[in-house]
Amino acid sequence: MSSVADGRHRVIGPAILRLAIVGALCAGAGWMFGTRVGLWLAVVCLAALYLVQLYYLAVLGGWLETPSLAAIPNGIGAWSEVFARLYRQQRASEIAQQRLIDNEERFRHTISALPDGIILVDASLQIEWCNPVGERHLGISLKRDNGLRLTNLVRDPAFVAYMNAGRYEQALLFAPLALPGVMLSMAVVEFEPARSIVVTRDVTQSERVDAMRRDFVANVSHELRTPLTVVKGFLETILDDRASELDPTRLHHMTLMHEQADRMHSLVEDLLTLSRLESRQDPETEEQIDAAQLVAEVADEARTLSNGRHHVSVETSRIRLLGARDEIRSAYGNLVSNAVRYTPAGGRITLRCLEQDGGVALQVQDTGIGVAPEHIPRLTERFYRVDKSRSRETGGTGLGLAIVKHVLIRHQARLDVQSEVGRGSVFSAWFPPARRIAPEGEREAA
Ligand code: ADP
Repeated sequence: MSSVADGRHRVIGPAILRLAIVGALCAGAGWMFGTRVGLWLAVVCLAALYLVQLYYLAVLGGWLETPSLAAIPNGIGAWSEVFARLYRQQRASEIAQQRLIDNEERFRHTISALPDGIILVDASLQIEWCNPVGERHLGISLKRDNGLRLTNLVRDPAFVAYMNAGRYEQALLFAPLALPGVMLSMAVVEFEPARSIVVTRDVTQSERVDAMRRDFVANVSHELRTPLTVVKGFLETILDDRASELDPTRLHHMTLMHEQADRMHSLVEDLLTLSRLESRQDPETEEQIDAAQLVAEVADEARTLSNGRHHVSVETSRIRLLGARDEIRSAYGNLVSNAVRYTPAGGRITLRCLEQDGGVALQVQDTGIGVAPEHIPRLTERFYRVDKSRSRETGGTGLGLAIVKHVLIRHQARLDVQSEVGRGSVFSAWFPPARRIAPEGEREAA
């Protein structure tokens, strides 16, 4: 505040002093040569001062038309202070502007140097900016295509479907037409209500390694399947037909061998199921599934597995779901068999299908051992077990929830787990609204 007042004084002070000197001169002339002369002198001096002010106003007006640091005019008296101040302000603003330009330039350089493609688009997917890697990945040119709709330029069906669906929770893996032999992973980040960043990454190498790993696991599992079936078959035959002829030690060994062969067989089957699920992103066939019927079937399996040790109940409503029936049945079956295996005898297991947030939830609730919160995020990792020995004892392969995860990803669904150690768990497979087939009445109303 004081600096503003100081500035004002610095401009007005000399002007008032000058007026006072002129007034004193005129008064002196009037005293010496008569009042008339004094008055005339005062009029002439004021007119001269007025013209000077007019001149500098015109100079200022002219400069303001095209303000630039180099063309700042010089002035006399209070005007020299005004122009000096304009000079300082103009210089400060030019420095700030240059700094802004430098920062933007540096930012663009940094983004251009990224190994990932960055494409900035508005709400209607029109390109606003992109880095050279983005241009190469999607076969576009910023100069040529700026302002054009991205989906009109990149015609890959998977890309267009992904962008138009507007569901960006999962990255898209696709082979761009513009770059044969290359595999891209693409994610969309919505960072303002009307703007998004499309990020593309070349994952050719990691996909190749991943495919090699998948093929290796699938081939080994496949090769192991036949010998294992033979071993298991012979052991079964021996145990069925010759058990009475074996001495207790041998019988014990045979029984152990049979159990382990069984475990290996389940492991091989689960590994093959996982490879099958991984080899394609979408389910092969989609059909209308009667969720209540599916839950009832899985409940029957649960009763057989439980063998009367648990109270198994079902709560369903009439819901139909769109998806691959076998896959969903196997995923839900895994959740339910876990509930049976991790619930001590006498516990309750409840199977439900219900409408939730516009979609469908297939739930299983148990009063079993529960899972501590720190383990929950890792449950769907392959071979992740909270208690290894318990999992083995109950015949677990450690792959059940990994299979569930893959099936759900293929159906754009997710797994929700709520659990408390010692009290039980709720495992819920939630399918989005697009997978729920609305009942007749609801569809007509819509
Ligand atoms: P597993 O064959 O070992 O059961 P899963 O992938 O099916 O493998 O499950 C991973 C781990 O999650 C299990 O080892 C177990 O520790 C835990 N888990 C799964 N379901 C339940 C449940 N209903 N209650 C308690 N723990 C569970």
